[in-house]
Amino acid sequence: MALEFTKQHDTLRHEVREFGLAEIAPVARQLDAESRFPWDNVKRMADRGWFGVNVPERYGGLGLDYISYLIVLEELARIDVSHAMTVSAHSTLGMSPILAFGDESQKQRYLPFLASGSVLGGFGLTEPSAGSDAGGSRTTAVRENGGYRINGSKIFITHAGVGEIFVVTAVTDRAQGARGISSFIVTKETTAREQADRVGVGHAPALEPYTPGVRAGKKEDKMGWRASDTRELVLEDAIVPESNRLGPEGEGFVNFMKTLDSGRIGIGAVALGLARGAFDAALAFEQDRNPEDGPDPDRQAARFALADMATEIEATRYLVYGAAALRIRGRPYTREASMAKLYSSELAMRATTKAVQLLGADGYSAEWPVERMMRDAKICEIGEGTSEVQRLVIARSFIRESSGR
Ligand SMILES: Cc1cc2nc3c(=O)[nH]c(=O)nc-3n(C[C@H](O)[C@H](O)[C@H](O)COP(=O)(O)OP(=O)(O)OC[C@H]3O[C@@H](n4cnc5c(N)ncnc54)[C@H](O)[C@@H]3O)c2cc1C
Repeated sequence: MALEFTKQHDTLRHEVREFGLAEIAPVARQLDAESRFPWDNVKRMADRGWFGVNVPERYGGLGLDYISYLIVLEELARIDVSHAMTVSAHSTLGMSPILAFGDESQKQRYLPFLASGSVLGGFGLTEPSAGSDAGGSRTTAVRENGGYRINGSKIFITHAGVGEIFVVTAVTDRAQGARGISSFIVTKETTAREQADRVGVGHAPALEPYTPGVRAGKKEDKMGWRASDTRELVLEDAIVPESNRLGPEGEGFVNFMKTLDSGRIGIGAVALGLARGAFDAALAFEQDRNPEDGPDPDRQAARFALADMATEIEATRYLVYGAAALRIRGRPYTREASMAKLYSSELAMRATTKAVQLLGADGYSAEWPVERMMRDAKICEIGEGTSEVQRLVIARSFIRESSGR
């Protein structure tokens, strides 16, 4: 497959790159140090339409293609992964299930808030008993008065604090196993009303009344993605009308798996951008050290490392955008999405570790962004399906194929 980006893609890439350098790079270190959500940049990104890049214009999005969305993620992550994950978790996890599986009234009710970036969205799947084994969900949704009463706790949920609209899974029929899991749209007020009111996005009074019984729990103190909001999402006797069930009962698990397929390409783009950011820093350091570019045998090891990083980044670009091309053409892409996610997240770890090494003590210092990037890379190997889970998906797909199933 040839990697061909249009002029519109190139213009968008340039725009996001300029934004990253001007608005994110100067504040990324501080936001990371303070574990502070980037509200001012959320407003700026909302103004540019980046919370609804590939959402149809009729629902308030920019109406661009899926490649454009990945370009936004890649270029944001090149500077700071927390910013990229703010767009990614909101778009792929919070919004795309409503776009893909919602009925028309659900789309009209929720998508304009999300696609415009007026409020942030998220996705609640993980529980203490349900991570890689997402079918182990203990959260229950019991039918009551024509709706559902939901009880449970979702952990490590991106935007559980700052967000207002969530798609969550809950067991509606325990006897059916994974086929007894359904998904629901729930709402709550942001925990950051002051900041949201100050910047003018993040809170929508028109969403009221919120789902009773839904609230944010403990904020996580994390190794990386420190400017991204991660908390528990608590559902305590949450009363949800039937009209907020997303798709038929029992299809929540399958739909979430489909969402994650697509999410893996998104994480692939994020990890690709992160690896590229590490390469940028290593290259800048090398140029500073040896501006003459003369024959310096002592620097050969660094040059070889840069060449290897650049080559791996280019190979990963094909994996990520190749999986995206399959998705756009409506072809099966589960295996390719897993390959893209697996390879790019492991590349991000390798590239950021190598960049720290190349910079020596400077690389270990927060003066340079590579130590933050190295911390940020690790979760790419864990979130939205660990590397081990990706390997299982890939191996299983070949075994099924060869046995004709
Ligand atoms: C910053 C951050 C943000 C997150 N955001 C969200 C979010 O928005 N929404 C959400 O729902 N979740 C979110 N998560 C949760 C994330 O998706 C899970 O952490 C991830 O799916 C792994 O689950 P786990 O942590 O329970 O690990 P486990 O599933 O307990 O895995 C532990 C280890 O066992 C391995 N393992 C498990 N099963 C197998 C197997 N069958 N074969 C081989 N090895 C195996 C894993 O690979 C891993 O190494 C987030 C997590 C973090 C840290």
